[in-house]
Amino acid sequence: MINVSRRRFTGKRHLSGYKACRNCKMIVPDDAETCPNCGSTDFSNEWNGLIIVIDADKSCMAKSLGLSKPGMYAINVV
Ligand SMILES: [Zn+2]
Repeated sequence: MINVSRRRFTGKRHLSGYKACRNCKMIVPDDAETCPNCGSTDFSNEWNGLIIVIDADKSCMAKSLGLSKPGMYAINVV
């Protein structure tokens, strides 16, 4: 007898304990009250995609998304 455990995946890439700013899409810890990037208090727990910006000046991805500060950003915020 072989027991096979199956795990269900939601399909969403989601970091538990983090939320995304609806204004600038920065990923912040769940307990943050204001966004360290733009100061917004409008957050969403429904986000997917993740881009980590280390050097915004050299990253064309960051430029195309309008990101100017290093940090973690969501691609999509619902
Ligand atoms: Zn923000």
